[in-house]
Amino acid sequence: MMNQLGFPGDFVDLVMECVTTPKFSLMLNGTMHGFFKSTRGLRQGDPISPLLFVLCMEYLSRIPHKMSEHHLFQFHPRCQAFSDSTGLLANKHKSAIYCCGMPERDCARIGCLYVLIKRVTAAQCDVLVDRMISRTKIWSSRNLSYTARVHLINSVLLSLHMYWAQIFILPKQVLQNVNKVCRAFLWSGQAYSNKPSNISWDRSCCDKKYGGLGFRDVFKWNIASMGKYVWAIASKQDNVWIKWINAVYVKDGDWWTYQPKASASWYWKRICATKEMLKLVYTQAEFVAITHYSVKGVYEKIIGVKPLIHWECMVWNRLNIPKHRFICWLAVQERLQTTAKLARIGISNSATCLLCGQYDEEHSHLFFNCPYSSRCIMALKVWLNLSALSCTLLQLLRVTSHSRLTKFRKQVVYAALAAAVYFIWHSRNSSFWNSSVPTMQHVVSKIKQSVKERILYVMPKKVSRKDSLWFMSL
Ligand SMILES: [Zn+2]
Repeated sequence: MMNQLGFPGDFVDLVMECVTTPKFSLMLNGTMHGFFKSTRGLRQGDPISPLLFVLCMEYLSRIPHKMSEHHLFQFHPRCQAFSDSTGLLANKHKSAIYCCGMPERDCARIGCLYVLIKRVTAAQCDVLVDRMISRTKIWSSRNLSYTARVHLINSVLLSLHMYWAQIFILPKQVLQNVNKVCRAFLWSGQAYSNKPSNISWDRSCCDKKYGGLGFRDVFKWNIASMGKYVWAIASKQDNVWIKWINAVYVKDGDWWTYQPKASASWYWKRICATKEMLKLVYTQAEFVAITHYSVKGVYEKIIGVKPLIHWECMVWNRLNIPKHRFICWLAVQERLQTTAKLARIGISNSATCLLCGQYDEEHSHLFFNCPYSSRCIMALKVWLNLSALSCTLLQLLRVTSHSRLTKFRKQVVYAALAAAVYFIWHSRNSSFWNSSVPTMQHVVSKIKQSVKERILYVMPKKVSRKDSLWFMSL
């Protein structure tokens, strides 16, 4: 044992001399009776005893350490007993093992996700989609408004994806499934649905200033998060991984023009492919000049600039009642399922307005050329003291945004318009489903009441005294 631990031969011989030579004698009735040799052990009181003890214990502690690497190593039966009697266990949900450079067979046995060896298959990522589906199943029992669903998708479903996307390059199929679950949940409140959506998913994924709902495009977000590794290599960060990459793959070559060999690992090839995609939006100098890599910043760069919309301030106005925003978002884009629209695609027999029964129910008619809605708007104009003559939704928006009203007053007008859109659409639906239309007076008072309540609740702090007096007098 001491030879194995690397002690010099002479020293080992000396120790062995001490261990092998002791002789013992038995004393019976006060006299010694011969000697017998000891086969192991030191003389009594030998000072090297504790030192040898330490060496033996060192050997013992090395054995479990070595054995823990053995493939048959398992929970010791006594540890199992300890666990059973105390109830203490390792939490598998909180524990993760990441293997690198191990034979595939061993990894599969441990059952972990392995990096850098093999491609991440769609089946391995099913956990992600399953988790999303289980979340939506919990929510689907509740009757959530569209706005609430938008929030849940953004804050819960897509952040699950965000966590994964920073570690793996997710297979296309998985990303498509992520989109599918989110889209189904948005439009139907369920995890699975074939219901056609009013607005394409790509459009919903735009930023709010470009007319979308501010969802992330999962494909592009994945590129932006993986771009962090490309950037780390390009900016030659000082860590082991980068050194390893440089030693094994790049080898003093130029990283920006580097092409992976056909024999390289799947993961490495994907990182190189990510670099190629980033090259479409960045020049080498621009990319290296980034001092602090921000996934969001790079994502926005990949998305690029799109035509701005002019109704953002109205639809996403802070003073709007949250559930009015979504209907308003659809209405300004003329994407509500009006009867005229349903008639065009052959679902409805008649295209006539459900409120007045005289004209085709187009968006421009409903908001607000219809006799019913135009009277509502007239009442609101009187209420808010607006002099604008125009009566369609988009015209009213434009006039308001160009008017000389203070910011707060504009926001109040927007909130009232959004409420009008919501309640008129509500009346129209009530006519469709219940065959009864609320009276115009009822609708107007509902609009006034809800707008006042909401604004009193979220009143901005920086409102001039004049404006707040004006609002109180409404
Ligand atoms: Zn009408």
